[in-house]
Amino acid sequence: MSDNDIETLIVGGGIAGLACAVHLKENGRSIRLVERNDHLGGVIRTLCEDGYRIETGPNSLFLRSEDPLLDYIKKLGLEKESVQAGLTGKRRFILKGGKPVPLPASILEGITTPVLSLRGKLRVLKEPFVPSYEPDDPADPPEETVAQFVERRFGPEFLDWIIDPFVKGVYASSPEILSMGDTFPKLTDMEDRYGSIIRGALAMQWAPKPSPAPLTRSIFSFSEGMGRLPKAFGDFLGTDAGTNADVIGCTRTPNGFRTALLFEDETYYLHSRHVVLAGSATQASELLQEISPEAGGPLSEIPYAPIAVVSMGFARKNVSHPLDGFGLLVPTKERRKILGILFSSSLFPGRAPENQVLLTVFAGGMPNPKLAFTFDEELIDIVGREVESILGTKGKPDFLRIQRWEGAIPQYTLGHRSRIERIMDALPEGIHLAGSYLSGVSVSQSFTSGIDAAKKILSFAPRD
Ligand SMILES: Cc1cc2nc3c(=O)[nH]c(=O)nc-3n(C[C@H](O)[C@H](O)[C@H](O)COP(=O)(O)OP(=O)(O)OC[C@H]3O[C@@H](n4cnc5c(N)ncnc54)[C@H](O)[C@@H]3O)c2cc1C
Repeated sequence: MSDNDIETLIVGGGIAGLACAVHLKENGRSIRLVERNDHLGGVIRTLCEDGYRIETGPNSLFLRSEDPLLDYIKKLGLEKESVQAGLTGKRRFILKGGKPVPLPASILEGITTPVLSLRGKLRVLKEPFVPSYEPDDPADPPEETVAQFVERRFGPEFLDWIIDPFVKGVYASSPEILSMGDTFPKLTDMEDRYGSIIRGALAMQWAPKPSPAPLTRSIFSFSEGMGRLPKAFGDFLGTDAGTNADVIGCTRTPNGFRTALLFEDETYYLHSRHVVLAGSATQASELLQEISPEAGGPLSEIPYAPIAVVSMGFARKNVSHPLDGFGLLVPTKERRKILGILFSSSLFPGRAPENQVLLTVFAGGMPNPKLAFTFDEELIDIVGREVESILGTKGKPDFLRIQRWEGAIPQYTLGHRSRIERIMDALPEGIHLAGSYLSGVSVSQSFTSGIDAAKKILSFAPRD
C-alpha cells in the first residue's frame, strides 16, 4: 500500500465515526479518520469559559448493560472519571399553567400529581384494556405517529402533558410528525407482545434480572464534561485521526474508492477499499450523489431539527426557583417559544463558579425552526424573557453563550425504516454508513451505529 492507501477511510469524527475507527483499529485494521472541524466529537463538545463548564451538545449519557459504549468507557478507564446525576437530577419539571410542576416519579406521585386531571389519570389506567394496533386492519392507519399511538393507548392528556414535552426535549420535535415504530420500537414491540404497555412494563419489572452493571440505569457525565469522551477516543487513535480536513468528493476505482479532501486549501486524494460516511444523512447524501444517487436520494429526504443552545449563568440569588431537578420541559399547550431548560449546575458538580448557576436553554426544533436562526440579540431577548417568567431570574445573565446546530437531531418520520432499508440496499459494496439517523439519536445509539459499520468491514478479510 502506498502512503495514502488505507483499508478504511472514515469521514466524520463525531461519536459514530470515532466508534467505527476505534473498533477497527482495535482489531488491527488500517484506518484513517478525517474531520472537517478543528476538533473531534461532532456535536459533543465541552467548553470552559469564565469559570463555567458548558456543553454545546449533549449534557449526559444513559447506558444499558448491552451498549458497546459501556465497554469502551471501561476499556479507556473513564469509569473513574464519571459523575452521576445527584438525586435532584431524577426530578423533572414540566410547565403547566405557566408554573414548573414536578413530573410524577412514583406510583403514589402519579395518583396525586396535578399534571393530569382525574379524568386523564383514569384514562391512563384504561390502557391495558385498549385493543392492539392491527396494521392489516383497514380501520387502522398503515403506520402510526407517536401522537396517534399515545392518544389511542393512553388518551389525549397523557399525550399533551407527558409525551409531547418529552418528544420536544429529546427529539426537538413534535409527536405528530414522528413514527412511533421507528422512534420508540421497544414500546410498539411491547404492545405486540403483551397487548399493553402497562402490562408489558409490569411483566418486565417482575422478571428476574441480573444486578445492574455500574454506570447503567442512571444519568451520568464525566468530571471534565462530555467532551472527555471524544478526547479519549482521539488519544487512542493518535495520528490516525485528523481534523480540519473536509471531504469534498468520492469516486470509484477498480479496487475501491478515491476520496478527495481539502486541507489547508490544498486538495489531497486518499485511496481506500472501504469508506464509512459518518456525518449526517444530508452530508452522506452529498458525497454519494456521484457514486450512488439511489442511496443519496432517500438520504437527502431525512429531515433534521435545527436547535439553538443558549447557556446562561446567573448569580444563585438572582434565580428564585430552587433548580432542584434535571430541568424543565415545555408542553406545546403552554404556547411558549422554548423547548426546555436544563438546570445544568444542579445536574453535575463543577458546572458553574461558586454561588452561580448555569442554565441551558434549548430553542427552535421542528416546532419553531426559525428561532434557531434568529439573530443573537432577538434570541437572547426571547430566551431571557421566557426564563425570567418561568424560573424567576432577575436581571441579565452574567454569562451567555449561543451554539447553533443547523442539523441537530434527525427526525424518524413516517416511513423512516423503509427509507433506511432502501438506502442500505442501494449502497455500493465498500460504502458504509454510521450516524444518529440509523439506530437511534442518543450518543450511545450513535456510537452503536459506528460499531455496526465496523463489524461489517471486519467481515471482509483484511487487505495485505
Ligand atoms: C444540542 C444537542 C443536545 C443533545 N443532548 C443529548 C444528550 O443529552 N444525550 C444523548 O445521548 N444525546 C444527545 N444528543 C444527541 C447526540 O449527541 C447526537 O445524536 C450524536 O452525538 C450524533 O453523533 P454523530 O457522530 O452521528 O454526528 P455528529 O456529532 O454530527 O458528527 C458528525 C461529524 O462528521 C463531520 N463531517 C460531516 N461531513 C464531513 C465531511 N464531508 N468531511 C469531514 N467531516 C465531515 C462533521 O463535521 C461532524 O463532526 C444531543 C444532540 C444535540 C445537537
